[in-house]
Amino acid sequence: MEPSERIARLIGLIDESGRVVLCPTCGENAWDYGLATLNIPVDPQFAEMGKFEVFPLICTHCGYVRMHSTHHLERKSQRHSD
Ligand SMILES: [Zn+2]
Repeated sequence: MEPSERIARLIGLIDESGRVVLCPTCGENAWDYGLATLNIPVDPQFAEMGKFEVFPLICTHCGYVRMHSTHHLERKSQRHSD
């Protein structure tokens, strides 16, 4: 299945950082991306919308999941296009 336009953009923003991130569990560089973002519920006292949206990348070797804040990725992107 192909990623949506937004997911493709998030993948591009992570790639633009230019860093090779090795899996902290197994040491491989074998990341697969999730096809959707995830919303983690957060106490509304600490987050305006009561949720924290993340984009997951999954190590295809051991299953370790790392997550990137979509807000921070997209905010960084907006700053660069100003
Ligand atoms: Zn791994």
